[in-house]
Amino acid sequence: MSKPKILIIEDERSLIEILTYNLSNEGFEVLTASDGQDGLRRAQTAIPDLVVLDLMLPGMDGLQVCRQLRSDPKTQAIRILMLTAKSEEVDEIVGFNMGADDYVSKPFKLKPLIHRIKALLRRPSVEQQSGDIVAVEGIEVDRTNHVAKVDGTEVLLTPTEFRMLWTMMRRPGRPYSRNELLDNARGEDANALERTIDVHIRSLRQKIGDKARFIETVRGVGYRFKTDA
Ligand code: CA
Repeated sequence: MSKPKILIIEDERSLIEILTYNLSNEGFEVLTASDGQDGLRRAQTAIPDLVVLDLMLPGMDGLQVCRQLRSDPKTQAIRILMLTAKSEEVDEIVGFNMGADDYVSKPFKLKPLIHRIKALLRRPSVEQQSGDIVAVEGIEVDRTNHVAKVDGTEVLLTPTEFRMLWTMMRRPGRPYSRNELLDNARGEDANALERTIDVHIRSLRQKIGDKARFIETVRGVGYRFKTDA
């Protein structure tokens, strides 16, 4: 197995050095960038398994980098661990808005940080699901063949319903805003968008019957696929 690849985007040189040294010792391949713009480019070309992303960066900050990574299909599955100095922003950071998978507040201790990195890498990623099929809680979505099944029985979904279900199931637990679920609706009137997506979700829930309980409304945010229902 090849070494997991970690990209560190951090503007404090001493931190880059400490992290590079220690993560290399742990058997990771380490790449570094010292500003957001460069970090984003490296992520897009190297497609690391995980990005350690500092929140406060000169120029393009960590949140912008995070959003960019999440909005590009090529990079959206990369795990993101945010380094933050402000603990009060945590809800936002790991929430739908920013899309980080986890965070560690500065100043941090090395051991717990490495522990969190390893834990994140153990989480199944999109690539580890077999190809273009996701199967969770008895629901199977096959993107290549455009087939959705509930307990083995095919259900007929509209393209929009299909895409929404696929999006949510790829990352169970992560809340998606309405904008993210209807990604081609950018610029649409916000109220209309909200109504539209709620209609799609209602229809989707009806079609998957019992399993509708896994599609959870996240107040003030949107929806998510939750697996612990
Ligand atoms: Ca910084």
